[in-house]
This record gives sequence, C-alpha cells and structure tokens, in this order.
Amino acid sequence: MTDHVEQLEFQAETHQLLELMIHSVYSNKDTFLRELISNASDALDKLRLESFRDKDLEVDTSDLHIELAVDTENRILTVRDNGIGMSRDEVIDLIGTLAKSGTAELRKQLLDGKSDAAAEELIGQFGIGFYSTFMVADQVTLTTRRAGEATATRWESSAGSSGYTIETLQDAPQGTSVSLRLKPADPEDHLFDYTQEWKLREIVKKYSDFIAWPVRMQVERT
Ligand code: ADP
Ligand code: MG
Repeated sequence: MTDHVEQLEFQAETHQLLELMIHSVYSNKDTFLRELISNASDALDKLRLESFRDKDLEVDTSDLHIELAVDTENRILTVRDNGIGMSRDEVIDLIGTLAKSGTAELRKQLLDGKSDAAAEELIGQFGIGFYSTFMVADQVTLTTRRAGEATATRWESSAGSSGYTIETLQDAPQGTSVSLRLKPADPEDHLFDYTQEWKLREIVKKYSDFIAWPVRMQVERT
C-alpha cells in the first residue's frame, strides 16, 4: 500500500549539478560505487552508535552489512544497507539539497577541464556523492526506512527531470537501498558495464580496505 506520490522540484543548483553529472565526461565513473558504499558504511556506523546510545531502539545489529544486487536483464544495480536509514524529512533535506556553497565553484572548475584526479578530489570535497549515480544511471530510486520508524520513504528521479518524487511506503526493510537503472552499455566499452560481476568485484576490492563492513554480492545470471 502506498500513499500518493508527491512531485518536488530540485533547487536550481541541484539541477545544474545533476545535468553536469548526466553529461559527465569525467572518466572515472567507478566513483559512483565508492560513493554509495561509503554512504552505506556511514549509515551502518551511525546505526551501531545509535543502538549503543539508545537502548530502547529496537534494531537488530547482529548482521550489519552492505549488499550489491544486479538484475542483468533489466540492467538494475542495487546497493543496500541495513544501517540507520532516513526519515522522510531527512530524505528531502539530505538528498534533495546540496551543500550550497561549493556547487557553483565545482561546476566552474569541472567545466574548466580539470584533470580527472582534480575532478575526483573536487567531487569528494564538495560532497555530491549521491548525485554521482547519474553518471551511470538514467533513473535512481532510493528506498529507506529509518531505524525505529514504522513507515518508509521512496525517492525517485530520472535523468532530464527537473525534480523528484517522494512517496511514503507502509512497508520496507530498515536501512536504505539505492537502485540504479543503468544507462545502456556501450558495446565498444565493456569496461564500464556495471552489470558485470567482475567489474563490481574489481571496484569493491579497490575500496573495501577502507570499509569496516562486509560487502556481499548477488548477481542474477540471465
Ligand atoms: P555526503 O556523504 O558527503 O554527506 P552524499 O551526497 O553522499 O554526501 O549523501 C548525502 C547525505 O544523505 C549523507 O550525508 C547522509 O546523511 C544521507 N545518506 C546518503 N546515503 C545514505 C544511506 N545509505 N543511509 C543513510 N543516509 C544516507
Ligand atoms: Mg557520501
């Protein structure tokens, strides 16, 4: 059962940044996965901390982990965690809004044709992690339920749209899942096919040294 779907507009700067990501020529597209895994890892850290602090919080912290799932037929890549999750207001605040100060400068610098290394540093510095998903996806759906809350929230946006939708769900696992509808694969360039298990493993391996939580993988072969 779902409530009605609410349509909200991006702020001008957010929209500008999204356009930049969608049309990105930034070559290190693998970054999007690092950003999602690092957000998931932060969410698991936060849940552990909050469960220590708040003994009344009824959460299961026995199997905190990150999971990658691929639906190869539909080209959907999902990154899930069973961490802290977000309330509806948090989704709107945290995902819908950007650190305002840096965006214009970031855009300028990226458009100035900085090196990839410099661009990557800037992207990290300005905290636009989540939006980097639009480098590889033409639709992004985030479903989340905050620890201790009964209802969940779904956020969705598509490339080229000026806004996003928000919907309240009555039922969803605690934590966050981000599903990316991957852009069509370039037959000339299988290096950027994120439905490929080897590709995902390679990226995860590269970054997992910095992640304290297990990352599991589930690839449906079709
Ligand atoms: P940053 O991680 O630098 O703050 P992001 O764009 O990556 O920027 O994420 C924005 C915010 O959205 C995060 O700070 C966090 O509060 C929230 N968020 C993103 N992903 C998750 C997640 N998987 N679980 C809980 N909160 C998340
Ligand atoms: Mg982040």
